[in-house]
Amino acid sequence: MDRSVIRLSHCQKEIFCFSVPDECPSCGEELKGSRLQEAPVSLPSPFTNGHKTSCCLLVAPAHDNISRDFDGTSDLHTGISNTTGVVYNYTHGGVRREQSGWERCVSVPMVRPDMFHLLAQWDRYLDRFSDGPMWDPAWHRFNEEDHNCFSFCLQFVNSVLAAEGRSSLSRETFTHSFILPRMRRVSKYNTLYEHIQRHQYYMVDRQVDRQEDRQEDTPVPS
Ligand SMILES: [Zn+2]
Repeated sequence: MDRSVIRLSHCQKEIFCFSVPDECPSCGEELKGSRLQEAPVSLPSPFTNGHKTSCCLLVAPAHDNISRDFDGTSDLHTGISNTTGVVYNYTHGGVRREQSGWERCVSVPMVRPDMFHLLAQWDRYLDRFSDGPMWDPAWHRFNEEDHNCFSFCLQFVNSVLAAEGRSSLSRETFTHSFILPRMRRVSKYNTLYEHIQRHQYYMVDRQVDRQEDRQEDTPVPS
């Protein structure tokens, strides 16, 4: 999955495809070489290279789970990036610090760019937290249900919030407000992408009030 999806408008239709088709799939008018009324727009991909992020929660969907609807955090691997793009993630063997492998994931920024104090402390917090006995296989065992990669991320975020004098987030709040909306977007994008792969394009009636960058509006082929 590496082509970008573009959206173009013609005869009151919106057409999603990888490249401008020779003729409009709706009215048949020739498009190749003709000037479109509006330039085609690229749809932003929901994926990010995690090693180019800073202070983000990263979610890597498992391969076999990619087009299903996400209803929770099972089958997902999660990690936290430091300020230089190293991804800290908890596994059976303890905390891994990875410089590759997270090239295609969903990122959730955890620090606002104006929070200088926190940015300056982030790497130290993350290192210290990762070295704690909670994540040392000699002390605590990894458990798929309640002591997993997600527990690591959530507890790290909560330890940062506590250090900043703020209240902690529950697993439910965290999942529902930060993760699920993004995973739904991934799921929609993938469905659209697969449809275009199979049928060359996906077409819907044009919505007059569509805003350019509202990714949530990406229609889903049925
Ligand atoms: Zn047309």
